[in-house]
Amino acid sequence: MTAQLLDGKAAAAAILAEVAAGVAALLAAGGRRPHLAAVLVGDDPASQTYVRMKRRNAEEVGIESSDHRLPASATTDEVKELVRGLNAESRVSAILVQMPLPPQVDAGAVIECVDPPKDVDGFHPYNAGRLALGDPAVLPCTPAGILELLDRNQIPVDGRRAVVVGRSNIVGKPLALLLLNRHATVTVCHSHTRDLPALCREAEILVAAVGKTFYIGPDWVRPGATVIDVGVNRLDGRLVGDVDPAVAQVAGWLTPNPGGVGPMTRAMLVRNTLLAAERRS
Ligand code: NDP
Repeated sequence: MTAQLLDGKAAAAAILAEVAAGVAALLAAGGRRPHLAAVLVGDDPASQTYVRMKRRNAEEVGIESSDHRLPASATTDEVKELVRGLNAESRVSAILVQMPLPPQVDAGAVIECVDPPKDVDGFHPYNAGRLALGDPAVLPCTPAGILELLDRNQIPVDGRRAVVVGRSNIVGKPLALLLLNRHATVTVCHSHTRDLPALCREAEILVAAVGKTFYIGPDWVRPGATVIDVGVNRLDGRLVGDVDPAVAQVAGWLTPNPGGVGPMTRAMLVRNTLLAAERRS
C-alpha cells in the first residue's frame, strides 16, 4: 500500500483564497481592514524567516501587517510594554509574539499580557481554558490546521482511536483537546510513556509532534492509519519530519513533510486574524 498524501499546500491555498474573500466582504460591509502585528525579539534567523512568511501570507490576502522588533537583550517588562501598546492600538486586530523568546524573557508573562481576543495563536490562558472546557474562542494554529486537513480530506474523527505523541502546550495538548471535542478517543504520549510502539499501533489517527528525526517507523503504524507528521528537524541541511518516509508503505493517509502541517499552520494564523477582525466589527 502507498499512502495517499494529505496535501497541506493545496488545502492552505484554498483557505487563503477563502480568507481573501472574507477580507473583501468585511471591507464591503464597512468593516476595518484586518491588521496582524508581529512581535519579534532578538535576531534568530529561523524566527525572522517564520515572521516574514506569516506576514507575506497575510498581505497576500489583503490583511495589513506590521513588524515590531526588540533586541535580544530586551527584558520581560520591555516586551510586555510593547504588547500592551499593541493591545491598545485600535487598528491592530491580532498580535503574534514569535516564539521562542530569549531565555531572560518570561514567555508565560508575555503571553498573559496579550489581550485574549487579539491572541492570534490561541496561547493565552483564557483561550487555552476555553478550549479545555470544550468552548473554544481562538484555536491554536497548528492543531486547528491539522483538524482542517482531516476535514477537507473527509477523514472521520468521531469515534476514532487517536494517539498524539507529544504533549506541548502549542501542539500536543491542544490537539488532543480538539480531537476529544470532536469525539475521538484520545491517548497522549510523551517521553515517560511505556511501550510507545504498541500504543501507536492502536491508532487510526496517529500524530507525531516530538521533534526527533524519523522517530516513528513503519512497524509502529497500524495498516491504513492516518499519520500526521508535525515535526520539523534538520537532517544534512534539509528539513525532515518525525515520521520515517517508509511509513508511506503502511499508512492509508500521510502528510508530506515539508508541505503538510506547516502551510496549514500559517493559513490558520491568517484565518485567525480575519476572525479577530470580524469579531471586532
Ligand atoms: P516540544 O519539544 O515542546 O515537545 C516535544 C514533545 O515530545 C514533548 O511532549 C516530549 O515529552 C515528547 N517527546 C520527546 N521525546 C520523546 C520520546 N522519545 N518519546 C515520546 N515522546 C517524546 O515540541 P513542540 O510540541 O513545540 O513541537 C514538536 C515538533 O513539531 C518540533 O519538531 C517542532 O519544530 C514541530 N512544530 C511544527 C509546527 C508546524 O507548523 N509544522 C508547529 C509547531 C511545532 P515530554 O513532555 O515528556 O518532554
